[in-house]
Amino acid sequence: MNNQDFPERTCLICKDKKDKKDLFRLVKTGEDKYAFDEKQKEQSRGYYICKSHECLKRLSKHKKIKVDTDDLIKMLNLLKKGEKDYLNILRAMKNSQTLSFGMNMVLEEIEHTHFLVLAEDISEKNERKLLLRAKELNITYVYCGNKQQLGEIFGKDEVSVIGVKNKQIARGLIN
Ligand SMILES: [Zn+2]
Repeated sequence: MNNQDFPERTCLICKDKKDKKDLFRLVKTGEDKYAFDEKQKEQSRGYYICKSHECLKRLSKHKKIKVDTDDLIKMLNLLKKGEKDYLNILRAMKNSQTLSFGMNMVLEEIEHTHFLVLAEDISEKNERKLLLRAKELNITYVYCGNKQQLGEIFGKDEVSVIGVKNKQIARGLIN
């Protein structure tokens, strides 16, 4: 089996299996020491970590997986840039009738929803409710930004979730 055909890798921190494009690549530079392989070019064996605030935070405190602060900041900045792009796309679409937002509206219209954006700080209860429906209906979802950032798009204090009802736009966001 050729590894190139199955670009899934496991996150060092949470052990989730993900597509390579959703992970940062690290290489080992010493015992317990790792460096960020930004260009993905280092010849040595790759280790991977999710492009998420949660896993980066856990990495920064990890006792056995040590990464330089410079590298942590580099990854954090890339993560923030990606999120900003995402939030910008959502902001540009906010008046297009294609978005639903907030728990009530999203759940009400979930059957017409093709993509969900969950705030990273969504409550566990709401997260569970949404993911249950998302799995039933096979809706793709991502975590992006916090409730305040998602709220800003719609001029609200906080928004926990945004639903995308247009198939074309959902597909654009997924890729
Ligand atoms: Zn992870």
